[in-house]
Amino acid sequence: MERYADIIIHISHEAVDRIFQYRIPEHLYEQIQIGSLVIVPFGNGNRVQKGYVVGITTIPNFDVTKIKNVISIEEKGVTLESQLIQLASWIKEQYGSTMIQALKTVLPVKEKMEQKGNRVLELRISKEEAKEKLEEYEKKHYTAKVRLLKGLMQYGKVAYSVATKQWKATKSVIQSLEAEQVLFLHTKQIHRNPVNYKKIEDLKEQVPISLREEQKKIVTTFQTDYDSGIRKTYLIHGVTGSGKTEVYMELIAHVLEKGKQAIVLIPEISLTYQTVRRFVSRFGDAVTILNSRMSKGERYDQFTRAKNGEISIVIGPRSALFMPFQDLGLIIMDEEHEMSYKSETVPKYHARETAIERARMAGASVVLGSATPSLESYTKAKLGEFTLFTMKERAKKDAALPIVETVDLRQELKEGNRSMFSRRLYELMVDRLKKGEQIILFLNRRGYSNFISCRQCGYVVTCPHCDVSLTYHKNGSLRCHYCGYEKAVPKICPECGSQYIAGFGSGTQKVEEAIKRVFPASRVLRMDTDTTKGKDGFEHILETFAKGEADILIGTQMIVKGHDFPRVTLVGILAADLSLHGNNFRSGERTFQLLTQAAGRAGRGEIAGNVVIQTYNPEHYSIVSAKMQDYEAFYEQEIVYRNIMKYPPVYQMLTIFITSKEQEKAIVASNACKEAIQIWNEEEREKKGILLVGPSDGTFAKIQDTYRRVLYVKHLDYEMLVKCKDFLAGYLEYSVIFKGVQVQFDFNAMLVY
Ligand code: ADP
Ligand code: ZN
Ligand code: ZN
Repeated sequence: MERYADIIIHISHEAVDRIFQYRIPEHLYEQIQIGSLVIVPFGNGNRVQKGYVVGITTIPNFDVTKIKNVISIEEKGVTLESQLIQLASWIKEQYGSTMIQALKTVLPVKEKMEQKGNRVLELRISKEEAKEKLEEYEKKHYTAKVRLLKGLMQYGKVAYSVATKQWKATKSVIQSLEAEQVLFLHTKQIHRNPVNYKKIEDLKEQVPISLREEQKKIVTTFQTDYDSGIRKTYLIHGVTGSGKTEVYMELIAHVLEKGKQAIVLIPEISLTYQTVRRFVSRFGDAVTILNSRMSKGERYDQFTRAKNGEISIVIGPRSALFMPFQDLGLIIMDEEHEMSYKSETVPKYHARETAIERARMAGASVVLGSATPSLESYTKAKLGEFTLFTMKERAKKDAALPIVETVDLRQELKEGNRSMFSRRLYELMVDRLKKGEQIILFLNRRGYSNFISCRQCGYVVTCPHCDVSLTYHKNGSLRCHYCGYEKAVPKICPECGSQYIAGFGSGTQKVEEAIKRVFPASRVLRMDTDTTKGKDGFEHILETFAKGEADILIGTQMIVKGHDFPRVTLVGILAADLSLHGNNFRSGERTFQLLTQAAGRAGRGEIAGNVVIQTYNPEHYSIVSAKMQDYEAFYEQEIVYRNIMKYPPVYQMLTIFITSKEQEKAIVASNACKEAIQIWNEEEREKKGILLVGPSDGTFAKIQDTYRRVLYVKHLDYEMLVKCKDFLAGYLEYSVIFKGVQVQFDFNAMLVY
């Protein structure tokens, strides 16, 4: 059977869409792999061109007689591009996408744009020679040439526009001086730099920090490993303020010394001026950033600068992972538990797993850090797959961990307090306002308010099969989005008989109104998606608060990380339950993370902080362990739950998300997927052991006239799910059932479909 290579000729955004097929001559079978750089005849004239192999197949896509042969393979070893193409191929396999989608994710995005270059005139001759020339021109009364040459003699180098506009040099004058070899005309490519180093340099921290024992241990272990050629993944479990960032910088310095580069991944929300400043004041202009507010052109500039070796550290969210560094030594992933590390669009890759794969290819190490590690990473650390470090204390002298207490909102109601603020929180707020200290009020509301609970006893209606809370639907029913179980909203609480059974629904705006009523003299800032729309909206609010220009900051998860507020001595979490009863198996983990991170905002300075967690479930393990600030205790309970319910990370879970404009098609297609998988699962004598849940309607059965169905596939082994995806992808291609139906895959999804 003949073999064919899918080849892209130009690595740029538009061209990756165009894949050309070539026949692989038999003598190259062994050598040609995905990512190989090959020589091919191209176009009508069969010009010799270089191209990258992005796929190998035995099935030709074109008329075989018209398929040309690959000429040869470039034997330069593995280039950076080869590596990135291999990474794209890995992403395509692991997460399910087309190769083009994967390539577009991984390869630097170039778009047709005007090169931001500017032309420069430069004196090409010595001062002496210039003087002679000047005399010559003066004698001949070449006044325009005299003007231009005098200018160049004074400045040496000048922008083209200055010469033409200020010195009135015409094009022909410039050309003739160029022809006489008096000046160079060249174009200086400017790759825009998003960091204003000057502004930051002025703020350079004076006192050098000497690392604490806990920090030193990490640094020494890493360095010893690194120097003896050991590359692996480390997990730093360190409480907020324990000095993880200091450690990252120390590790980066080490790999930089070896001539390598480093990628620092942080959630976009923590990519604040403060964070960037710390890196820049240590590493200067070796640092650049990426963020989603940058234009494609600005991003492409950073990729170019990286390729040219102008920078060696990039700080950015998920996509910074694909920075084209030639000699990558280290990938840091701060706040590794954050959901934003998972892509929400196809390919739905997880940056943590992908970072580990990129590091493996490049011979780099990975360092993950968090105060609340993901269940996935902590499990791997426990199994010895990752090396675990723990930091239990805050780095700054006097910055003790805050005092955390919970308040039972059921009790408040019983005793007649219907306000948003418990008596304890109110009392502390009065105290802090009097002392002129700052307060953060935290509402983890977003997307989690559609469950029903009893205001008197805290009872929440959950699914008997899946142990997640049922989601309220507008038609008045409650539904499990995992298995489709449905029941009517109870009129009275089945636990205590109370009539106060209803949905949650207080937003940040309501909190603000309440504060204005209760504390009319206080200065309040509100931070949520409404108030932070502008380009630097949220940074502006944080800075105003940091400067002490407000007493109370109200916010959603946005305020959890990033800025240091030394004057904050009270954090109030208004309704901890809001994230507890999301209809997602990660709700407990999410709640623990949010509470711990929010608590971490208190007492960063000299004054000890208080944290008040208001909740209807003071005995829930997520809340108890957040109160005790005991990650281990949380982990032990959560992993039992995951185990019993067969959820990740114990089981691996593939979400198959099926949508169609026609309801009937969506239903038929989702049933067909289930049947096909069932047959495939049983087909060989040796059963594969795949578990299926569903199909059922998505959380929202219909959005924008598109019907949504979900099917879950579970197995202990990730590779089995990859096989299942490949099998299904093949089936989708030839079955007519899937005309007008879209099918997406999501491995160990963060999202609720
Ligand atoms: P994390 O990233 O774990 O939240 P940081 O690295 O931001 O912690 O450290 C918290 C604060 O403590 C910062 O202001 C940092 O400058 C300071 N810090 C870190 N390590 C030390 C140290 N060894 N000695 C004194 N201060 C330190
Ligand atoms: Zn009740
Ligand atoms: Zn269910």
